[in-house]
Amino acid sequence: MFNALIVEKDEEGKTSASVQSISLDRLPEGEVTVAVEYSTVNYKDGLCIGPGGGLVRNYPHIPGIDFAGTVEASDDDRYKPGDKVVLTGWRVGEAHWGGYSQKARVKADWLVPLPDGLDTRQAMAVGTAGFTAMLAVMALEDHGIKDGPVLVTGAAGGVGSVATAILANLGHEVAAVTGRPETADYLKSLGATQIVPREEINETTKRPLEAEMWGGCVDAVGGEMLARLLGQMKYGASVSAVGLAGGAALPATVIPFLLRGVNLLGIDSVMQPYDNRLRAWQRIAKDLPMDKLDAMVQPATLADLPKLGKDILKGQVKGRVVVDVN
Ligand code: NDP
Repeated sequence: MFNALIVEKDEEGKTSASVQSISLDRLPEGEVTVAVEYSTVNYKDGLCIGPGGGLVRNYPHIPGIDFAGTVEASDDDRYKPGDKVVLTGWRVGEAHWGGYSQKARVKADWLVPLPDGLDTRQAMAVGTAGFTAMLAVMALEDHGIKDGPVLVTGAAGGVGSVATAILANLGHEVAAVTGRPETADYLKSLGATQIVPREEINETTKRPLEAEMWGGCVDAVGGEMLARLLGQMKYGASVSAVGLAGGAALPATVIPFLLRGVNLLGIDSVMQPYDNRLRAWQRIAKDLPMDKLDAMVQPATLADLPKLGKDILKGQVKGRVVVDVN
């Protein structure tokens, strides 16, 4: 028997989440059984702990879109008991039972060996949010980061915090957009040199082009903010579109693409090919300072998750939450 956060749905379609003890034979099929050590809380987890947001297929459900732990049993040659592994994406925690559990059973293809230099707790301090932030930075690098500050939106959130710390550590000037002025000292401690109040960049402008300001951008917000900042990018600069914390609509014009050669780069962490996953985790171990990562972390347990799920949907979680499932 082991503990997991189980989300159930009643006859009226209302969901409720609670920590329950369940048996190993209830785990779904998969080649590798992992003793989970840590998980974390991402925006998608907030949806899956609550009403599901259309992501969860079947109930009862165990959410948790990422986890790190130790292989306990494996039918696949690539993994043996004792190996340290990390998992993000592949719709684990949505369509498949996830990491809010002391045990998880998954496909071997979904796992990545823990990179040298990271332990399981640090891997989940990074989590899907930080892994995606790294993918976003790599995409900017592949297209060339221009001179001048790199903008990070939703900066005090998970993706934004890790992107800020990585970019600053790589020597870029970072301008951090936040709606929470009280996080300014925190963002500066991660390496941001400029704090941009959310309202300054959140309103739709009637002008498709404004002064060229940013040499690149990691955008966790989408919506009107993304539409606005496209017109503020420097000539040839790129925006990695990661998230939709501010909305899925994109009320923009194509003018920044046509007249300034701005690139809008889509970032998907879920179906990312294995080789690029490895590359991203290795870059995280090398380019994300661990003292900065520690400063982002708040600890939590399985019992804290129902509240944290609500908080992250309201944009009230600062940095990264690390869930010790044991
Ligand atoms: P967080 O909630 O930790 O961060 C989001 C941040 O966005 C908030 O902290 C807040 O930052 C800002 N924000 C929230 N609401 C608004 C709003 N209405 N307008 C403007 N800014 C807002 O979430 P994560 O960092 O985990 O994820 C960020 C986004 O990235 C989510 O939409 C998530 O779904 C997406 N994502 C996408 C992935 C992919 O594969 N493409 C993978 C992981 C995440 P502040 O207070 O500083 O303003």
